[in-house]
Amino acid sequence: MSPSAIQAELTWIDGTFLPGIQITVGPGGRIEAVGAPEEAPSPILRGTALLPGFVNTHSHAFQRGLRGAGEDFPAGAGSFWSWREAMYSLVDSLDADTLHRLCRQAFGEMRDAGITTVGEFHYLHHREPGDFAFDEIVLQAAAEVGIRIVLLQAYYATGSIGKPLEGAQRRFATPSLEGYWRQWERLDLATDGATQTLGVAPHSVRAAGLGEIRELYEEAIRRRRPFHMHVEEQRGEVEQAMAAYGRAPMAALCDSLDIAGNFTAVHCTHTDPRDMARFLSAGGTICLCPATEGNLGDGIPDLSSPLASGSLSLGSDSNLRIAPVEEMRWLEYGQRLRGEFRGALADGRGRVATTLLAAATVGGSHALGVEGGRIAPGHWADLVAVDLRAPALADVPAERLLEAILFGSGNEAIAGTYVGGRWRETGAPSA
Ligand SMILES: [Zn+2]
Repeated sequence: MSPSAIQAELTWIDGTFLPGIQITVGPGGRIEAVGAPEEAPSPILRGTALLPGFVNTHSHAFQRGLRGAGEDFPAGAGSFWSWREAMYSLVDSLDADTLHRLCRQAFGEMRDAGITTVGEFHYLHHREPGDFAFDEIVLQAAAEVGIRIVLLQAYYATGSIGKPLEGAQRRFATPSLEGYWRQWERLDLATDGATQTLGVAPHSVRAAGLGEIRELYEEAIRRRRPFHMHVEEQRGEVEQAMAAYGRAPMAALCDSLDIAGNFTAVHCTHTDPRDMARFLSAGGTICLCPATEGNLGDGIPDLSSPLASGSLSLGSDSNLRIAPVEEMRWLEYGQRLRGEFRGALADGRGRVATTLLAAATVGGSHALGVEGGRIAPGHWADLVAVDLRAPALADVPAERLLEAILFGSGNEAIAGTYVGGRWRETGAPSA
């Protein structure tokens, strides 16, 4: 297959939308050149603007099965823990076909919302105890939809700190480090290393001991793989760690591990700013999931610590709603509501939208170890096309277009996506 050319009316290059840019894609699905047009433009991209494809750093695809559930509260106020019981009853009822259908739904919606890479934090491993039958179903569904996936293979050994797994949690079980790595290596051989790769993911300090987390982390470093973990989404987790370790989870992790750039802590809702600063300055990165955190009533993290470029990413988590543009604006809105001022996440030139887009592109790519997030030679040709004829974007000049997309539009403005140079129009059925 010869290289193909992609051209839109506007293309996002180094912080600005430029007209007259052609992107040449090589046969392996990477961008070969970005510059003045040499070939005829593609007709599907008239009236569109191209951005780097959005990266969904943290997803649990099967939770798509809870869409619309748990939004009435006859027994009074709910919480993360009451929601978790509903999630566990879904887990109890899932068979292989239903899991496959839910994954296809979730991944298909992601592409329709502009997402080209998903970090699937996968802990629902078993149909029958010990069979790991569900792992490959997730990879299969991603391949069918054509979404790039980093399977963050979860390690899940305890029900809470020092407690055995109970009930639905048994479907998550990875009883030993040896068994975990055996399955991890089997999956690694089954992936192509391009559209599908693997990461390492102890679920949380609730599900893995500090010694196990340290061993997993050292092995992830040795194998040069991303390492993800839920950290301090709930005050209850902080309290459990204080009782068991005399320290909050983030402090315990910083004390126990030689933190480096491959560690992504998900949520950090209740992380002490001093622990957050220590983690970030060591090279750790954080992933927030504003829609899920809002829905579950988790809280809003303190992001006052200096955030280096690429140290912040976004996830759709429970997939109760899949809309990265909304996640981006609520990343900023959460901080505005918390601090009672505007422009909380402004970059060095005072621009917020660029920070939000970076979280959904460069930050996610960094967190997942994927060469994406920028429209530049050598990166994957993962792109999102925004429909400039969408009513929400009418009469917006190019210099305000990014802000108009992120603060004033949503999924209805997504015309389609490319993954590795392969187009899928929004709403198209999956293969
Ligand atoms: Zn999660």
